[in-house]
Amino acid sequence: MNHSLSEKLFAEAKTLMPGGVNSPVRAFSNVGATPPFIKRAKGSHIYDVDGNDYIDYVGSWGPMLLGHAHDAVIKAVADTAQNGLSFGAPCGLESELAKFVMSLVPSVEMIRMVNSGTEATMSAIRAARGFTGRDKIVKFEGCYHGHSDSLLIKAGSGMLTTGKPSSKGVPADLAKYTLTLQYNDVAGVKELFDKIGDEIACVIVEPVAGNMGVVPAKPEFLQTLSEETKKHGALLIVDEVMTGFRVGIHCAQGLYAIKPDLTTFGKIIGGGMPVGAYGGRLDVMQQIAPLGGIYQAGTLSGNPVAMAAGLATMRELSTHPEHYVHAEAMTKRLIAGLKSAATEAGIPLATNQVGSMGCIFFTEGPVTCFADVQKSDLELFRKYFLGMLDEGFYFAPSQFEAIFVSAAHTEDEIDRTIEAAKRVFKKL
Ligand SMILES: *Cc1c(COP(=O)(O)O)cnc(C)c1O
Repeated sequence: MNHSLSEKLFAEAKTLMPGGVNSPVRAFSNVGATPPFIKRAKGSHIYDVDGNDYIDYVGSWGPMLLGHAHDAVIKAVADTAQNGLSFGAPCGLESELAKFVMSLVPSVEMIRMVNSGTEATMSAIRAARGFTGRDKIVKFEGCYHGHSDSLLIKAGSGMLTTGKPSSKGVPADLAKYTLTLQYNDVAGVKELFDKIGDEIACVIVEPVAGNMGVVPAKPEFLQTLSEETKKHGALLIVDEVMTGFRVGIHCAQGLYAIKPDLTTFGKIIGGGMPVGAYGGRLDVMQQIAPLGGIYQAGTLSGNPVAMAAGLATMRELSTHPEHYVHAEAMTKRLIAGLKSAATEAGIPLATNQVGSMGCIFFTEGPVTCFADVQKSDLELFRKYFLGMLDEGFYFAPSQFEAIFVSAAHTEDEIDRTIEAAKRVFKKL
């Protein structure tokens, strides 16, 4: 595969932006390759500037559940743009999208639109702290909630888990308010709440972890979070930035039958445009400015073009439930195919899948928390990734990311992917 134009563009980009990119994972540094520069995308395909055609399993990291450049979404964006790009004033489309989300997710009684998932989680944390008057928050190792200070925290060495910054520039004084536990650790959650439950503002959790590969929550884990937060007057924030409208039209909270106090959204609700949102209990959301004293704002929040893209996406998904059925069936087919191809080649592989999110880990498994994920053989992953890219299959360039399948992927494309994987696994 020829990548000469991408190489040239990447060399220039590296002189202009840190690592040549505007979000680190795109630099392909883990896998030691030049990222293809993308020219256009349609359906399940992306095309790079050198004319290479790939089947895409990244889907812009989640938003493109309908496939790229879906006709109804593109039309909504183009039509809306005719009337202007931004007003910084209320427009009806904001309420349309709000109503849509609230009708599908009953725990959300009031909602605020923002511009990214990071903004949504950061604002939800502030809402929880403002509402409870408490500072401490709890998160889980391997979950990613965007790059705000309080959330870029990993487990410290102590047993009860005062966090350490996972980025330079995050004050240790702030990190001490973020406590971290292992994902799916029911006993750890109970122990922590027994000790200091009445100091905790909130627990934030990915209901299906999708930023350490894919790791589903055990139902009793989410149930425990729900019970313990309620018992101690803390809030449960379910971060559905990735899972929202991906694992089902009622999101992960519908799938697992939980009722969080606050929910964060992003990715799919923007249909590929920069949108995030947070919402939940009325008594909490009524504390947000201008109604209450918890401040949060945004010049471009509720942008009409972004709202139109989100609305068109949500309309298509809610009127065509078969998109979910198809995308999930294709994901199951892919993951099962990859597993048997690996077994044939004598390579141990653990797999996880929920809806149209899937993951393969180069380890025996099972993989139920970050400690398990870390057993994966990253060198095998790297070779597998490069082999698949060369065959024309574009997966996330990191073991710690999900495989995203869209409603546009066909059975034939999935089967071709599996055939390519057989060739690649044999050479590992
Ligand atoms: C992607 C993601 C975020 C951050 O969203 P951005 O739009 O990248 O800021 C937060 N939480 C989860 C679960 C995510 O997957």
